[in-house]
Amino acid sequence: MRVFLDLMWFFRERKGHYLGGILLLMLVSLLGLIPPQIVGAMVNRIRHHQLTAQEFTHWIFYIAAIALAMYILRYFWRILLFGSAIKLSTELRFQLYRHFTQMSPSFYHKHRIGDLMAHATNDIQAVESTAMDGILTLVDSITTGILVIATMAITISWKLTLIALLPMPIIAITTQLYGKILHRRFTLAQAAFSDINDKVQENISGMRVIKAFGQENSEKQAFADLSKDVIRKNLAVAKIDALFDPTIGIVVTLSYFLSFAAGAWFVLHHQLNLGQLTAFSIYLGQLIWPMLAFGWLFNIVERGHASYDRIRKLLAIKSDIADKPDAINSVPSGSIHYTVHSFTYPESSMPSLQQIYFHLHRGKTLGIVGRTGSGKSTILRLLLREFDVENGDIQIGEQSIYHYTLDALRQAVAYVPQDHFLFSATIAENIAFAAPDKSFAEIQEAAQMAQIHDDIQQFPNGYNTIVGERGVTLSGGQKQRISIARALLMDAEILILDDALSAVDARTEHRILESLRKNRSGKTTLIATHRLSAVEHADLILVLEDGKIAEYGTHASLCSENGIYRAMWDRQQLESLVEEGGIA
Ligand code: ATP
Ligand code: MG
Repeated sequence: MRVFLDLMWFFRERKGHYLGGILLLMLVSLLGLIPPQIVGAMVNRIRHHQLTAQEFTHWIFYIAAIALAMYILRYFWRILLFGSAIKLSTELRFQLYRHFTQMSPSFYHKHRIGDLMAHATNDIQAVESTAMDGILTLVDSITTGILVIATMAITISWKLTLIALLPMPIIAITTQLYGKILHRRFTLAQAAFSDINDKVQENISGMRVIKAFGQENSEKQAFADLSKDVIRKNLAVAKIDALFDPTIGIVVTLSYFLSFAAGAWFVLHHQLNLGQLTAFSIYLGQLIWPMLAFGWLFNIVERGHASYDRIRKLLAIKSDIADKPDAINSVPSGSIHYTVHSFTYPESSMPSLQQIYFHLHRGKTLGIVGRTGSGKSTILRLLLREFDVENGDIQIGEQSIYHYTLDALRQAVAYVPQDHFLFSATIAENIAFAAPDKSFAEIQEAAQMAQIHDDIQQFPNGYNTIVGERGVTLSGGQKQRISIARALLMDAEILILDDALSAVDARTEHRILESLRKNRSGKTTLIATHRLSAVEHADLILVLEDGKIAEYGTHASLCSENGIYRAMWDRQQLESLVEEGGIA
């Protein structure tokens, strides 16, 4: 029952609705008590041959009127209580979503998408059910139960009522016990659902790879195994589930048996008349529902409790990247200064960067080159605060980036990540993603700078062509250039291109870099690349090796050094010559 306390914040928020709903629910229970009294009285009148036709129609009219009133009241309590429960799930879903948007990359590294989605669907549903059926069964079982029992005791016979209630403790004890087991099993079942959800998500996203490598059968097998696990764990829940009703059934039967045996004895000894016993049996029938409801209550509440615990655990995770309490909310500007003594990823034991010290004046271009895995992307991601540096600092305009709010910092930086991502939306919407207020002309201008405008014009719907799952399939180079256009439209002071030209040919690369130089004068650009031609004109080039700066300088100074850069440059020159048809 603790979950009701846990959800108290919400019940308080919707106090009016819940109080109104509960009041109506109680009113329905109260009204339900009247017809048995009427029936009891009618039976006695019939037995004594006193019932007149007129009296009979009167009674029938009363019963019909009560039924109509109950019908209307039921409609309204449903709206009040069930409507509130739907509001709760909406609220929880919103809380989760807001939480997801605040989390850093390392959160998504640890939590799988399918698992997060399971929280937002299945678990929220179980909590919704607690706020819906849980409240209903709680109020109904208690009020109807108490009212029916009190009426039986007061208006008919307290002795017979006591006898009828003798088997009740069995319900209390068993539901407690079943509830505990159910909680445990339901938690496991929900976790299994998370797993299978994740598998489905991953397989559908990776279907092309699965097919390309002919792994359909082994994936089917893996899925079948997970499926079996889900079935096994849900069956375990169902087995406990299935115990609730029969247990209550036994108690009800016992109760009937005891009250009829005792009731018959009372009638024989003239302590009760037949009408009273009839009414009593109707009341006993009315007690079945509250007893069943009591069993369901435990069932629903334990499911809701288990799910709410899962949701709370997720919500309790604090983002490791957060604003400092006194963070400045103005967009940073100025030269970039790195003093990163070392940086180790949270999940890693080895540092990925060491002794990264450099200064880049505002408006200049930085090139970062080096072998794959040498730490190029890591340097750039630190500037965006995807991860925080513990040992060292990064400054923009002589102010540590950790003194700015994340929002402000990210407004200063336009980023084209190495693994760019387009949404299932139109091309124009994708480009305007970070700057939705920009005009169509500005979107086109950004596309022109990114050398994608002509490609877009070729599509049947131009800028309104939908990309992604439900739209056209773009080539890798086209996607890359749309991502560049998106970053350029932001018109931020700092532009980061992380291997963003890898999928375009040398000529297009040249044209993009040219237009960047022309249109971004006075603004800072950071380019990580494998192709040295992309950084030929950079003001400072860092050559990374194993997370350290092995060489640095300009293209000219590095070429004269005869080091790694020079060797790479010579090799790439040769490669491009070969590509162009060989040395004449
Ligand atoms: P590429 O040219 O292939 O893009 P890169 O130079 O950009 O490589 P980084 O992505 O910066 O290389 O990676 C540097 C090192 O950090 C690698 O050894 C990589 O395994 C490690 N690394 C990258 N991301 C993480 C992460 N999230 N957690 C732990 N280690 C990571
Ligand atoms: Mg990289």
